[in-house]
Amino acid sequence: MTSVTVDPGRCTAYGICVGIHPDVFAIPAGSPLAIVTRNVLTDDDLEDVQEAVRACPAQALTLVEG
Ligand code: SF4
Repeated sequence: MTSVTVDPGRCTAYGICVGIHPDVFAIPAGSPLAIVTRNVLTDDDLEDVQEAVRACPAQALTLVEG
């Protein structure tokens, strides 16, 4: 089981992750940070989520295995 977390101390709501995979990441109106909308990632999600982890300018995203 793989999931992804957003570090609230780092995320500055740039929204790059949302642009890469809007099925997993979202920034609700008025929110200061991104949220994860799918607790367990599917195999199809992984490639885009890994790209989002690399692309996040705040290094706020972490993949969690297990
Ligand atoms: S790309 Fe990083 S800093 Fe930007 S909204 Fe996503 S998690 Fe937050």
